[in-house]
Amino acid sequence: MSGYQFNVILLSITKSIEFVIEDTKLHEEVINELLTVLTFNIVSKNNFVIRRNSNILQRNLERIVNKYKSALPKIQQLPSYFKLLNDNEFLVVFLEKNSSEQEVQLLLNYLYCKKKGLNFLKFQRNWNSQKFAFNNAYTYKAQDGKIKIPIGEKDKSKRKCRFCFKSKPQVSFKKIAHAIPESLGNKTIINYDECDSCNEKYGLTIEREFSNYFSLFRVLNKLKGKNGVPKLKGKDFELFVKDNKIHLEYNQDKLVSKSLDDNIFFLETYDKIVKQNIYRALCKFAISSIESRFLPHFRNTISWIDRDFDAIKLPKIAILNDSYFYDSQPKIGLFLRKNQDKTIPFCVAELGFGSLIFVFIVPRFLLDKELPFISAKEYKTYWNFFKHFSTHANWRFIDFSDTNESKVNFTLNLKGKSPPKNN
Ligand SMILES: [Zn+2]
Repeated sequence: MSGYQFNVILLSITKSIEFVIEDTKLHEEVINELLTVLTFNIVSKNNFVIRRNSNILQRNLERIVNKYKSALPKIQQLPSYFKLLNDNEFLVVFLEKNSSEQEVQLLLNYLYCKKKGLNFLKFQRNWNSQKFAFNNAYTYKAQDGKIKIPIGEKDKSKRKCRFCFKSKPQVSFKKIAHAIPESLGNKTIINYDECDSCNEKYGLTIEREFSNYFSLFRVLNKLKGKNGVPKLKGKDFELFVKDNKIHLEYNQDKLVSKSLDDNIFFLETYDKIVKQNIYRALCKFAISSIESRFLPHFRNTISWIDRDFDAIKLPKIAILNDSYFYDSQPKIGLFLRKNQDKTIPFCVAELGFGSLIFVFIVPRFLLDKELPFISAKEYKTYWNFFKHFSTHANWRFIDFSDTNESKVNFTLNLKGKSPPKNN
């Protein structure tokens, strides 16, 4: 009998992955050997063990991988993972993904202290008091799309559009407006307060730019949109998912870079984007999922989303790509400040889709009344206050202020994988 699966989760502050083997009967031998190497078979009742990324561990793993890679090619993910970690870095090996967010955070804090040489108990005391301060400063509401809770006014006749402020009969509300586009896999997070004309307008502008900007990522993460898994068609190449596998068809002359060993492909699309519109789209998703009573705080934000004006400079957006957080359904969360502390933003949003997480400030353009969080010092104060994010080590901070149009091109490195078939 098959159908059972073996999961191992490797959690570290550098990168975390979930490794799955299906059909455990067939791979019983591999699993036993892996368990011995990864956990010494001493997994406690907590279901995890803390390990060090040592040379011995890597050598033992390499031995198993060489033995089984032809029967189970995906096993090669494991040594690649350990190579990403720093030498001697500590990590947690879990056998099931059933720990609570708090437990995972506690373990991440532990690993963080190990790495920085900090006293864990002292750190944890400090953490708890900071968490108390954080909970006093912000309310948090998230929509993970697991259940369908539409946002806004149920009664069509009373609806007022959040973006153009018009109601019936000036505008209609016939179409289903997704708070996060369907192209990112969203089926359930619906905004009642978006009229058909705004829905169409944003769908053709900033939301389309957002989807195009992440088109490669959407294919690689196999995120199902309106018409199934997306296809990326560009100049002399086509990238698509077939039978749950990713295929790349390309023109050899143009697409393979000189470093053949690395299998680097330069993929040119026909799409163009304005980076500031990517930020606008993110804020539109946030405004679409916010409770109606908060909307008056975001009048200027809504004008900016509608491109009434360009921002000269925007705060950076923090982006984390970690397959541990992978979900085929996008999630959006909003932190709204309850107090008057101006050193932290009024509204911070978190959007997760696939294995990506974006954390961004929803700017309100209130001139003197709010810090812009553009200077490194202001940004650092804010980011350090959001401790549950900042203990992850691999955030990238990207500036999306640019208002010039640029082409959407990708460099895809299929390192360690056999080159795709050339048609
Ligand atoms: Zn509208």
